[in-house]
Amino acid sequence: MPLKKYDKILVINSGSSSLKFMLFSMSTETMLAKGLVERIGTPNANLVYQRDGQAKQQQGIAAENHGKALAMACAMLVDPENGVLKSLREVNAIGHRVVHGAEFFSDAVVVTEDVKASIKKCADLAPLHNPANLDGIVACETVFPNVPNVAIFDTAFHQSMPKHAFTYALPQRYYDEYRIRKYGFHGTSHKFVAQAAADYLKRPLEELSLITCHLGNGSSIAAIKGGKVLDTTMGLTPLPGLIMGTRCGDIDPAIIFFLSRKGMSIDEIDNVLNKQSGLLGVNGLDSGDMRDTVTAAAQGKAAAQNALDMFGHRAALYIGGYFTLLGGADAVIFTGGIGENSIPGRKAIVSRLDALGCKLDEARNKAVFGTLGPISTETSKLPAVVIPTNEELMIARETFRVLARAMKK
Ligand code: ADP
Repeated sequence: MPLKKYDKILVINSGSSSLKFMLFSMSTETMLAKGLVERIGTPNANLVYQRDGQAKQQQGIAAENHGKALAMACAMLVDPENGVLKSLREVNAIGHRVVHGAEFFSDAVVVTEDVKASIKKCADLAPLHNPANLDGIVACETVFPNVPNVAIFDTAFHQSMPKHAFTYALPQRYYDEYRIRKYGFHGTSHKFVAQAAADYLKRPLEELSLITCHLGNGSSIAAIKGGKVLDTTMGLTPLPGLIMGTRCGDIDPAIIFFLSRKGMSIDEIDNVLNKQSGLLGVNGLDSGDMRDTVTAAAQGKAAAQNALDMFGHRAALYIGGYFTLLGGADAVIFTGGIGENSIPGRKAIVSRLDALGCKLDEARNKAVFGTLGPISTETSKLPAVVIPTNEELMIARETFRVLARAMKK
């Protein structure tokens, strides 16, 4: 019985200097404990640990690499006082977030030597993320030698995009040689909320056309028809599309040549477009945070109001386009830090969707804060609904699904 065999699933999100973990019991889909090791490889490494329903604990630890960080995290999981396991042998499987799967992976997979080699090959496309994700996998192989590892890719869900949507109008040789194309990101979140939307609408996902908006520091929208992605706003990298916390989203690519000819290096331009643009670039504040933007706009600061209007305008442009491509939609879903919590951030978008039959209900919008619920009027033809995402649970579900499928073979 797979349910029992894969009950305790550990979810790992390994970054270059951090390792986040969450332990689930899949029979009830409950989170048992979670935590984070920060500043791995520095003398100030720190472990934050929280057992479900209890207060957070913090302690400085020695963690010169990801293996040590994981070992310290695991010590907490089996700690007689604060732990949730008697022994690490209770961990049945491990699910890893991997940012880029390129065209190698259109689904989650059990990690093998070949899979690790392919993840390494994708490092070209995600140089900051994939090597760190791989470090997390290798650490788990050491600490849990006989436990299966499953890789869940941010890009995998978007692999269902049709060729005409993912191809850039560049000479074909750049695709042939470098696989330059649109990949899309936040796939785990888009997939999670699409499934949750089907539950909410009480219809099978296969029958639905959905526009899912994951709005956080990084933001993307996906058009999903019958559970398959038709198009999404991010591309080869997470830079294009929406206006984000510090990323510019869509700009005229010739701006890059212009700035280069003005004497800026490619690295400087990269830094400006990824880290100094978006809300931060235009809101007149020292912050790319939506809360700060909204507060300043409410105080009458024109630059912040313009940033908010730009954010809403750009998102509405994509939602309208995706509505057309889908041939109409059953719902627009909002998720991520802004989608779940920012009443003015959602208003900036939904107030621009009247032409699609989606009318903002101010009272509903104010009432939905970090919870599931509609924010459009009762009579809207196109409902706008907030659905909190849970990427870690989705990774645990995918891990379970892939292993249960492998068992059946
Ligand atoms: P990330 O992409 O880093 O995961 P999040 O999904 O946490 O980011 O989203 C961060 C954004 O969400 C920020 O712009 C922040 O202002 C906004 N946000 C988070 N919590 C709230 C809240 N309680 N109220 C309003 N905005 C919020």
